[in-house]
Amino acid sequence: MPLATYQFPQGFLWGSATAAHQVEGGNTNNNWHFWENQPGRIANGDKSGLACDWWGGRWQEDLRNAAEGGQNAHRFSIEWSRVQPGPDRWDDHALDYYRQMIKGMRKLGLQPVVTLHHFSDPLWIYEMGGWENEKTVGFFEKFVRKVVKALKDEVSIWVTFNEPNGLVVNSYIDGCFPPGKQDFKAAFTALENLIRAHAAAYHAIHALQPDGLAAYALYYRGFFPKRAWFIPDVLVTEVLTRNFNDLFARAIQHGRVAMLLNKSYVQQAVGTQDYIALQYYSADMVSFNPLRPMQLFSSREYPRDIELSETGFIANIPQGMVQALHWARHFRLPIYITENGVEDSQDTMRPSYLLDHLRQVRRALSHGCDIRGYFHWSQVDNFEWERGWSQRFGLWGLEVDTQRRVRRPSADLYAAICRENGISRRAVKRWAPHMIEKLFPD
Ligand code: BGC
Repeated sequence: MPLATYQFPQGFLWGSATAAHQVEGGNTNNNWHFWENQPGRIANGDKSGLACDWWGGRWQEDLRNAAEGGQNAHRFSIEWSRVQPGPDRWDDHALDYYRQMIKGMRKLGLQPVVTLHHFSDPLWIYEMGGWENEKTVGFFEKFVRKVVKALKDEVSIWVTFNEPNGLVVNSYIDGCFPPGKQDFKAAFTALENLIRAHAAAYHAIHALQPDGLAAYALYYRGFFPKRAWFIPDVLVTEVLTRNFNDLFARAIQHGRVAMLLNKSYVQQAVGTQDYIALQYYSADMVSFNPLRPMQLFSSREYPRDIELSETGFIANIPQGMVQALHWARHFRLPIYITENGVEDSQDTMRPSYLLDHLRQVRRALSHGCDIRGYFHWSQVDNFEWERGWSQRFGLWGLEVDTQRRVRRPSADLYAAICRENGISRRAVKRWAPHMIEKLFPD
């Protein structure tokens, strides 16, 4: 009999993910506000502005849409600069508002997953040197304690840092995030401090909530040698894997902080993850290039003839999800896919991207991989950092000027998957008929 449904395990979390600076609007006291106001930093000079106006209450509409779309969880983040607007200032109203949001989620049947740091820092932290200053570690720990104390009766799954490996590269090597540096030494210092801050946050969470689950969220980039027979390509692929995907994992396994030739040891980081928060978008073919020292002597490209997103930012390479899950299962911890998605304002690629990736998730489950949840990036279009509003990752579209939400067909496809806790022939036939042969061959 042909397969009728790719069924997922009972209790699987189906959600979407957002981040404070990208959806709240009006965040004027952080380093991103400063960055957006510097000429040339953001595509088309875009600004986050009102964003999706969550701080004005429109989270209710988006989360209602999420819940009506069958989702049972939501991952979002707390904006540090709102809760701690100055080194000695706390804003309890901001915390109350987050509490209200979480209660709202619970009422809608959405289990909250809370990220404590998603790329943005308070301006006062930025001005004292951000992650290059080791004092930031202690400040972050205090902030975490404050938030966990206030929210622990409503939240049990925490993400300490969103993609700290991506943050280090974007901020200190590529320079597209503030402070816009291209400096390996600064990158290593920031990495060490981020690892220390993660460890401190992990221990603080456990001291306040022994049963809570905490982890950092990894940006897993798939890397494949362009010419598998050419040793320099293979070696440089390995160098990228070690210096990107493995940065935090190594510290958590053995306390070793290592990036290129820099090395140190952070004992308190050992064992500081209760689950794997895995984020996967795309993968590169890697080749050796002696002319690119800042890129660790590598060139990266997408394979030819591959399906590309609207601005060419993401290639549909589900094989990278396979690689990511294979990497993740070695830690023998439950895995949550805390981000995966594609920019696609016309919604022509999203249905196949979603199905291709979920199919690999299902496959990994049937090979014994302990995956507990999937969070699509994102529920609604939001401010995409240095790419501004030029990319649209939402299941729902956003008309930025009017704040009108526009449902995309993928929202219906994802809703069917969430409701049925699986990918059914019926849903694919209805919402992505071009994928029926691939998923359900007779
Ligand atoms: C980040 C999100 C971002 C998404 C799409 C992820 O790496 O965590 O904040 O919006 O990519 O660009």
